[in-house]
Amino acid sequence: MYSPIQKYLDEVHAGLFRIHGGSTESPNRVLASKDPNLVGLALTTSDGFTYTVGDADERFSMQSISKVFSYAIALQDNGFTFMDSKIDVEPSGSSYNDLSSESGSGRPKNALINIGAIAATAHIIPDSGESVFDKILRVYSACAGRQLDVDEDVYASDSAGSAHNRALTWFLSSWGIIEGDPIPAHDDYTRQCAVSVSARDLSVMAATLANLGVNPQTGERVFETKIVQRVLSVMLTCGMYDDSGDWVSSVGMPAKSGVGGGIISVQPGQLGMASFSPPLDEHGSSVRGLAAHRWMSRDLELHFVRTS
Ligand code: GLN
Repeated sequence: MYSPIQKYLDEVHAGLFRIHGGSTESPNRVLASKDPNLVGLALTTSDGFTYTVGDADERFSMQSISKVFSYAIALQDNGFTFMDSKIDVEPSGSSYNDLSSESGSGRPKNALINIGAIAATAHIIPDSGESVFDKILRVYSACAGRQLDVDEDVYASDSAGSAHNRALTWFLSSWGIIEGDPIPAHDDYTRQCAVSVSARDLSVMAATLANLGVNPQTGERVFETKIVQRVLSVMLTCGMYDDSGDWVSSVGMPAKSGVGGGIISVQPGQLGMASFSPPLDEHGSSVRGLAAHRWMSRDLELHFVRTS
């Protein structure tokens, strides 16, 4: 049977080809070489059904979408009081790689910009016998419901061009937000950005958040509910970088974009959505992806302020 959800996704996908603009220019040679015409959408309900259309199985790197999941891990490992003393929960109002920190203490504005994400990753506590990155990959994989891996080419290219993120990392070190050698945190952060996923995977990861921390397909509890509540709140106000205010007012859903071309959005208790389309706008978010999530929010009435 042709389900109404599948029919709707197919229509959104077809409509996206009317949207043009954005650029795939990137200092990362892997991102710069992506076919700009790829478009994939996936939606997973919080009871575990996945619907996909287009290039939903094409692999790309998570980039900034990883920040959401590493923040959740760091919160789960250290608790709110400790993490809040290291990273604030305020929108930065500026670009994702700015030095957006509290003057004096250096506390990053939030965990979804580079400086805050590097700080979050620095505080992940590995279980015995595993490295910090092993833990990151294990937890991301639990959210996706399959074993994920790293795109080594993306990692190598990002790593070679990461002077700016290294500088942010050294600022964190100078303020005592990262203690000891800060470079492993930088490397783990760069590696988590290179985790390779599809829109299908991301929709399951988003649905794990929608289902308040339990992967709806495997039944595994990955995050405690209170952690998910916090993470979704920060996604709502800070997930779209310096475009966050417009996003909250017009779309009204927790979301996160990444320069790999992916965007996730979450409707708590209902569904997780993911899009993939490489051309990015000036904020670093996928142009067609933004349109897809905007349309879905409007048509499925997903804005957190209900008007009907
Ligand atoms: N790896 C990128 C960086 O650290 C991720 C940025 C993004 O997706 N916005 O700058």
